[in-house]
Amino acid sequence: MIDRRAFLIASSAALAASAVYAPYIARAAVPFEQPKLPYPEDALSPTISAQTVSLHYGKHHKDYFTKLNELAPGTAYADIDLEQIVRQSASKSGEKDKKISNNASQAWNHVAYWEQMKPGGPKSPRGRLAEAIDKDFGGLQGFKDKIASASEDVFGTGWVWVTLEGGRIVIAGLQDGGNPLASGRPALLGIDVWEHAYYLDYENRRKEHVKAVLDNLVNWSVVESRMA
Ligand code: MN
Repeated sequence: MIDRRAFLIASSAALAASAVYAPYIARAAVPFEQPKLPYPEDALSPTISAQTVSLHYGKHHKDYFTKLNELAPGTAYADIDLEQIVRQSASKSGEKDKKISNNASQAWNHVAYWEQMKPGGPKSPRGRLAEAIDKDFGGLQGFKDKIASASEDVFGTGWVWVTLEGGRIVIAGLQDGGNPLASGRPALLGIDVWEHAYYLDYENRRKEHVKAVLDNLVNWSVVESRMA
Protein backbone atom coordinates (compact mmCIF):
# COMPACT_ATOMS: atom_id res chain seq x y z
CA MET A 1 0.00 0.00 0.00
CA ILE A 2 1.31 3.44 -0.89
CA ASP A 3 1.78 5.76 2.03
CA ARG A 4 -0.41 8.82 1.41
CA ARG A 5 2.33 11.33 2.10
CA ALA A 6 4.77 9.52 -0.18
CA PHE A 7 2.09 9.47 -2.86
CA LEU A 8 1.52 13.23 -2.57
CA ILE A 9 5.24 13.88 -2.85
CA ALA A 10 5.45 11.60 -5.87
CA SER A 11 2.49 13.40 -7.48
CA SER A 12 3.89 16.85 -7.00
CA ALA A 13 7.28 15.75 -8.30
CA ALA A 14 5.60 14.36 -11.42
CA LEU A 15 3.68 17.62 -11.82
CA ALA A 16 6.85 19.71 -11.54
CA ALA A 17 8.64 17.49 -14.03
CA SER A 18 5.86 17.87 -16.58
CA ALA A 19 5.49 21.66 -16.25
CA VAL A 20 6.98 23.41 -19.26
CA TYR A 21 8.47 26.21 -17.24
CA ALA A 22 9.42 24.20 -14.17
CA PRO A 23 12.93 25.68 -13.91
CA TYR A 24 11.44 29.14 -13.61
CA ILE A 25 8.67 28.28 -11.23
CA ALA A 26 11.28 26.79 -8.93
CA ARG A 27 13.61 29.76 -9.10
CA ALA A 28 12.27 32.89 -7.42
CA ALA A 29 14.27 36.00 -6.65
CA VAL A 30 17.06 37.92 -8.29
CA PRO A 31 19.35 37.26 -9.97
CA PHE A 32 17.16 35.68 -12.63
CA GLU A 33 19.21 33.41 -14.80
CA GLN A 34 18.82 32.97 -18.54
CA PRO A 35 18.28 29.24 -19.15
CA LYS A 36 20.63 27.49 -21.52
CA LEU A 37 19.52 27.28 -25.13
CA PRO A 38 17.99 23.77 -25.31
CA TYR A 39 19.95 22.88 -28.50
CA PRO A 40 23.04 24.02 -30.45
CA GLU A 41 22.86 27.39 -32.23
CA ASP A 42 22.71 25.77 -35.65
CA ALA A 43 19.84 23.41 -34.77
CA LEU A 44 17.18 25.63 -36.36
CA SER A 45 19.10 26.21 -39.60
CA PRO A 46 18.31 26.90 -42.41
CA THR A 47 14.94 28.35 -41.31
CA ILE A 48 16.68 30.35 -38.58
CA SER A 49 20.44 30.60 -39.11
CA ALA A 50 23.04 29.99 -36.41
CA GLN A 51 24.00 33.67 -36.71
CA THR A 52 20.44 34.79 -35.95
CA VAL A 53 20.16 32.38 -33.01
CA SER A 54 23.53 33.53 -31.70
CA LEU A 55 22.53 37.19 -31.74
CA HIS A 56 18.95 36.61 -30.68
CA TYR A 57 19.74 34.32 -27.73
CA GLY A 58 23.20 35.61 -26.86
CA LYS A 59 22.56 39.36 -27.09
CA HIS A 60 18.85 40.27 -27.27
CA HIS A 61 17.47 37.65 -24.90
CA LYS A 62 20.44 37.91 -22.55
CA ASP A 63 20.04 41.66 -22.36
CA TYR A 64 16.47 41.40 -21.03
CA PHE A 65 17.78 39.34 -18.10
CA THR A 66 20.65 41.76 -17.49
CA LYS A 67 18.28 44.74 -17.38
CA LEU A 68 15.75 42.91 -15.21
CA ASN A 69 18.49 42.05 -12.72
CA GLU A 70 19.49 45.71 -12.59
CA LEU A 71 15.92 46.93 -12.09
CA ALA A 72 14.32 44.35 -9.77
CA PRO A 73 16.44 44.51 -6.57
CA GLY A 74 14.73 46.51 -3.85
CA THR A 75 11.30 46.27 -5.52
CA ALA A 76 8.28 44.05 -4.90
CA TYR A 77 9.51 41.90 -7.79
CA ALA A 78 12.84 40.91 -6.29
CA ASP A 79 11.60 37.78 -4.51
CA ILE A 80 9.04 36.27 -6.88
CA ASP A 81 9.52 34.14 -9.94
CA LEU A 82 9.62 35.47 -13.46
CA GLU A 83 6.12 34.33 -14.40
CA GLN A 84 4.67 36.12 -11.38
CA ILE A 85 6.54 39.28 -12.30
CA VAL A 86 5.00 39.13 -15.77
CA ARG A 87 1.53 38.66 -14.31
CA GLN A 88 1.85 41.26 -11.56
CA SER A 89 3.67 44.06 -13.36
CA ALA A 90 1.59 44.19 -16.55
CA SER A 91 -1.20 46.37 -15.17
CA LYS A 92 1.02 48.76 -13.19
CA SER A 93 1.55 52.29 -14.45
CA GLY A 94 4.70 53.36 -12.59
CA GLU A 95 7.69 54.09 -14.78
CA LYS A 96 9.90 51.50 -13.10
CA ASP A 97 7.10 48.92 -13.10
CA LYS A 98 6.78 49.40 -16.85
CA LYS A 99 10.50 48.89 -17.42
CA ILE A 100 10.45 45.79 -15.24
CA SER A 101 7.34 44.54 -17.01
CA ASN A 102 8.90 44.97 -20.47
CA ASN A 103 12.14 43.24 -19.59
CA ALA A 104 10.51 40.44 -17.56
CA SER A 105 8.01 39.75 -20.35
CA GLN A 106 10.71 39.59 -22.97
CA ALA A 107 12.91 37.41 -20.73
CA TRP A 108 9.97 35.02 -20.27
CA ASN A 109 8.71 35.18 -23.87
CA HIS A 110 11.99 34.02 -25.31
CA VAL A 111 12.25 31.07 -22.93
CA ALA A 112 8.90 29.93 -24.29
CA TYR A 113 10.08 30.69 -27.83
CA TRP A 114 13.28 28.59 -27.70
CA GLU A 115 11.55 25.76 -25.85
CA GLN A 116 8.75 25.40 -28.41
CA MET A 117 11.26 24.79 -31.24
CA LYS A 118 13.12 21.89 -29.64
CA PRO A 119 13.94 19.55 -32.55
CA GLY A 120 12.47 16.06 -32.56
CA GLY A 121 8.78 16.76 -32.06
CA PRO A 122 5.97 15.62 -34.35
CA LYS A 123 5.58 17.52 -37.65
CA SER A 124 1.93 18.28 -36.96
CA PRO A 125 -0.29 18.65 -33.90
CA ARG A 126 -1.74 15.57 -32.26
CA GLY A 127 -4.38 14.72 -29.71
CA ARG A 128 -6.56 17.44 -28.26
CA LEU A 129 -4.47 20.21 -29.83
CA ALA A 130 -5.16 18.75 -33.29
CA GLU A 131 -8.84 18.35 -32.43
CA ALA A 132 -9.10 21.96 -31.24
CA ILE A 133 -7.33 23.28 -34.37
CA ASP A 134 -9.61 21.24 -36.64
CA LYS A 135 -12.69 22.47 -34.80
CA ASP A 136 -11.75 26.16 -34.63
CA PHE A 137 -9.74 26.60 -37.87
CA GLY A 138 -10.91 23.81 -40.18
CA GLY A 139 -7.48 22.18 -40.12
CA LEU A 140 -3.78 22.87 -39.71
CA GLN A 141 -3.31 24.87 -42.92
CA GLY A 142 -6.09 27.30 -42.01
CA PHE A 143 -4.54 27.70 -38.57
CA LYS A 144 -1.07 28.41 -39.98
CA ASP A 145 -2.50 30.88 -42.51
CA LYS A 146 -4.27 32.80 -39.72
CA ILE A 147 -1.05 33.02 -37.68
CA ALA A 148 0.92 34.20 -40.73
CA SER A 149 -1.59 36.91 -41.57
CA ALA A 150 -1.79 37.99 -37.92
CA SER A 151 1.98 38.48 -38.04
CA GLU A 152 1.53 41.06 -40.81
CA ASP A 153 -1.02 42.93 -38.73
CA VAL A 154 1.44 43.56 -35.88
CA PHE A 155 2.75 47.05 -36.65
CA GLY A 156 6.41 47.39 -35.70
CA THR A 157 7.63 45.08 -32.95
CA GLY A 158 5.60 42.41 -31.23
CA TRP A 159 4.52 38.79 -31.01
CA VAL A 160 1.81 36.58 -32.40
CA TRP A 161 0.52 34.29 -29.66
CA VAL A 162 -1.72 31.27 -29.70
CA THR A 163 -3.77 31.14 -26.53
CA LEU A 164 -7.06 29.80 -25.15
CA GLU A 165 -10.21 31.76 -24.43
CA GLY A 166 -13.21 29.94 -23.03
CA GLY A 167 -11.73 26.65 -24.24
CA ARG A 168 -11.27 27.88 -27.81
CA ILE A 169 -7.96 28.44 -29.54
CA VAL A 170 -7.38 32.11 -30.25
CA ILE A 171 -4.62 33.90 -32.20
CA ALA A 172 -3.56 37.29 -30.87
CA GLY A 173 -1.06 39.80 -32.21
CA LEU A 174 0.41 41.82 -29.34
CA GLN A 175 2.78 44.79 -29.39
CA ASP A 176 6.31 44.84 -28.01
CA GLY A 177 6.76 42.25 -25.23
CA GLY A 178 3.05 41.53 -24.79
CA ASN A 179 1.93 38.02 -23.95
CA PRO A 180 -1.26 36.23 -22.90
CA LEU A 181 -0.02 35.55 -19.36
CA ALA A 182 -0.47 39.20 -18.53
CA SER A 183 -4.22 38.79 -19.05
CA GLY A 184 -4.39 35.44 -17.27
CA ARG A 185 -4.43 33.23 -20.36
CA PRO A 186 -2.04 30.41 -21.29
CA ALA A 187 0.76 31.03 -23.81
CA LEU A 188 0.62 27.98 -26.09
CA LEU A 189 2.81 29.21 -28.95
CA GLY A 190 4.60 32.52 -29.43
CA ILE A 191 6.10 33.78 -32.69
CA ASP A 192 8.54 36.64 -32.25
CA VAL A 193 8.01 39.19 -35.03
CA TRP A 194 10.60 41.73 -33.93
CA GLU A 195 12.95 42.25 -36.87
CA HIS A 196 15.86 40.78 -34.87
CA ALA A 197 14.10 37.40 -35.12
CA TYR A 198 14.26 37.20 -38.91
CA TYR A 199 15.96 40.12 -40.63
CA LEU A 200 19.34 38.47 -41.32
CA ASP A 201 17.65 35.44 -42.90
CA TYR A 202 14.51 36.88 -44.47
CA GLU A 203 15.19 40.64 -44.63
CA ASN A 204 11.73 42.27 -44.58
CA ARG A 205 9.79 39.11 -45.51
CA ARG A 206 8.18 38.58 -42.11
CA LYS A 207 5.27 36.47 -43.28
CA GLU A 208 7.53 34.11 -45.21
CA HIS A 209 9.67 33.64 -42.10
CA VAL A 210 6.61 32.95 -39.92
CA LYS A 211 5.31 30.37 -42.39
CA ALA A 212 8.70 28.63 -42.45
CA VAL A 213 8.84 28.54 -38.64
CA LEU A 214 5.38 26.99 -38.52
CA ASP A 215 6.21 24.45 -41.23
CA ASN A 216 9.71 23.49 -40.10
CA LEU A 217 10.43 24.31 -36.49
CA VAL A 218 7.44 24.18 -34.15
CA ASN A 219 7.53 21.25 -31.73
CA TRP A 220 3.82 20.51 -31.50
CA SER A 221 4.24 18.28 -28.44
CA VAL A 222 5.54 21.25 -26.47
CA VAL A 223 2.61 23.37 -27.66
CA GLU A 224 0.11 20.66 -26.66
CA SER A 225 1.73 20.32 -23.23
CA ARG A 226 0.97 23.99 -22.58
CA MET A 227 -2.77 23.39 -22.86
CA ALA A 228 -2.73 21.94 -19.33
MN1 MN B 1 13.23 38.43 -29.78
